[in-house]
Amino acid sequence: VVKYKNVTKSFGEVDVLKGINLDIAPAEKIALIGPSGSGKTTIIRLLMTLEEPTSGIIEVNSQNLWQMEKKGKMVRANEKHLRQIRGDIGMVFQHFNLFPHMTILENCMTGPIHVKGQSKEEARKNAIEMLEKVGLGDKVDNFPNQLSGGQKQRVAMARALVMRPKVMLFDEVTSALDPELVGEVLEVIREIAKEGEMAMILVTHEMDFARDVADRIIFLEDGVISEQGTPEEVLGNTKSERLQKFLSRFR
Ligand code: ATP
Repeated sequence: VVKYKNVTKSFGEVDVLKGINLDIAPAEKIALIGPSGSGKTTIIRLLMTLEEPTSGIIEVNSQNLWQMEKKGKMVRANEKHLRQIRGDIGMVFQHFNLFPHMTILENCMTGPIHVKGQSKEEARKNAIEMLEKVGLGDKVDNFPNQLSGGQKQRVAMARALVMRPKVMLFDEVTSALDPELVGEVLEVIREIAKEGEMAMILVTHEMDFARDVADRIIFLEDGVISEQGTPEEVLGNTKSERLQKFLSRFR
């Protein structure tokens, strides 16, 4: 459902991604791990078209997100095309990014109404259902600043999920939370993952969680995928010294 072919990304002189090849199957759950600065967030931002690749190809459902212009510059696919592709991708950020002036319910209705063309009634019904699913059925009329960090993050998930994406991206969604709130957010992701139908890319430092949820773990280091495999293969008897060293920080 998602394909990276030889993708590179440089910021000025700094080569952040140095040739990423990655093929994600429908419903596959991928945990992306690696040291700070290795390029994990950049991989996700490229897929959201928040950043353009320096070279290479990124496809969603066999559709190209980027085109090479004559001058060697990468440009986004045309807007209409892109909107359709983007509709298949949902993202949850580290810092929630909720709309502060909208209630929780409105936060979850605006995408389906304005992007998917749902009626207000339909969007309301789906949003309430999704908010109940993430355990916030009693908060629908609250505003984001009335919620805890964990609750805000669960709203962010509901807001992404009501769009029925085929791929969900989670970028260190628990790293801005107080430790006691991490569990409730991971629990919701676990449940969504169990339902199975969506592909997921999870950038995370929670190794136990990655082991539980992921079909495949990818270790990114200095802009290249240096190890990948099942959780047992990567977190179990890894032979790579650098991966061992990285993992030892979490034990
Ligand atoms: P972390 O775990 O700390 O979030 P990461 O693996 O997600 O790290 P990225 O955020 O992808 O890493 O960043 C990779 C490198 O790219 C870093 O060295 C960062 O400083 C650099 N970088 C990211 N965005 C930009 C930008 N807009 N301009 C310049 N450099 C950038």
